[in-house]
Amino acid sequence: MRAAILREPGRIVVEDIPEPEPDEGEVVIRVRYALTDGTDLKAYLRGHHLIGYGPFGHEYSGIVAKVGKGVEKFREGDAVMGVNTAPCMECHYCRRSMYNLCEKLTENMVLGTYAEYVRIPAQVVKINLFHKPEDIPFRVAPIIEPLACVVRGVENLGEMEPGSNILVVGTGSVATMFAILLKDRGQVFVAGRREEALKRIQELTGVRTLSTEKNFSEEAMDYTDGYGFDIIIDATGATEAMQKALGVLSKGGKFLVFSGVGKGTSLSIDIHALHYGEMSIVGSFHHTPDSVRRAIDILREKRMELEALITHELPLEMIEEAFRLMMERKALKVAIRP
Ligand SMILES: [Zn+2]
Repeated sequence: MRAAILREPGRIVVEDIPEPEPDEGEVVIRVRYALTDGTDLKAYLRGHHLIGYGPFGHEYSGIVAKVGKGVEKFREGDAVMGVNTAPCMECHYCRRSMYNLCEKLTENMVLGTYAEYVRIPAQVVKINLFHKPEDIPFRVAPIIEPLACVVRGVENLGEMEPGSNILVVGTGSVATMFAILLKDRGQVFVAGRREEALKRIQELTGVRTLSTEKNFSEEAMDYTDGYGFDIIIDATGATEAMQKALGVLSKGGKFLVFSGVGKGTSLSIDIHALHYGEMSIVGSFHHTPDSVRRAIDILREKRMELEALITHELPLEMIEEAFRLMMERKALKVAIRP
């Protein structure tokens, strides 16, 4: 079968590799669509500790092609969609319901969806693979994975006062999803560096935008009557942007660290302001079985808006072009058709 292999930073080759076979409890699916995302872009540009090198891609939809022993939920020919991991349900964190922090997450990971076929590990088949509803097209179904991560992020923000001032920092697909999910809950602004990217997010979501380059702090304070933002979400992973954004967090505000950053990354925090202003900094990683299910419902409710995140579609053989478009910020998400 044809599969995209990430060889080293900046180099993907599409070549023939053996078709996967399902072990007990597993299924192999014929991939209909795989979507690109920021994590894969990071892996392409400089490597990623959870992805490594080899077959990659983790957002998918397809048709069940082979069924392993003991699988009862799925049959050959079923249309399916799913996410990339599932919790083990037994480790220290799973026993405390912190499923996204499962110690065995990477052992039960789907990797290699930029290919004709992909093997789905038993734990994912059991918990996080679904029959695809007819009203969700194959092309948009893979979005449930990043959407489930965003849903988890919103959950981690906890209770939100109606009419809160919300700032999403970043202009990629994740930032756009946060804007779509939160715009009914308050006054949402998106901040970023590039004007074209801000314009696109404004067109897609209708939220207001501000530049992180020009008079960012002054404008942020003006827009919030001098209070700063009640909720700030970082969807950049860029320390410079995070540092700027921290400076406009309101008293009682929450700052969500959503995007992944490298080990050892640090920010400077005004502890005086944090203490007297009762501010919180909250992390968010990955998704839980609950957030995946919520994401499926949200995809059905807001399908048109979410579908617009897929700005390009390319055949598997042109996958490097997809990452070039991502790198140049011309594409938000590219649908890859193996
Ligand atoms: Zn676990």
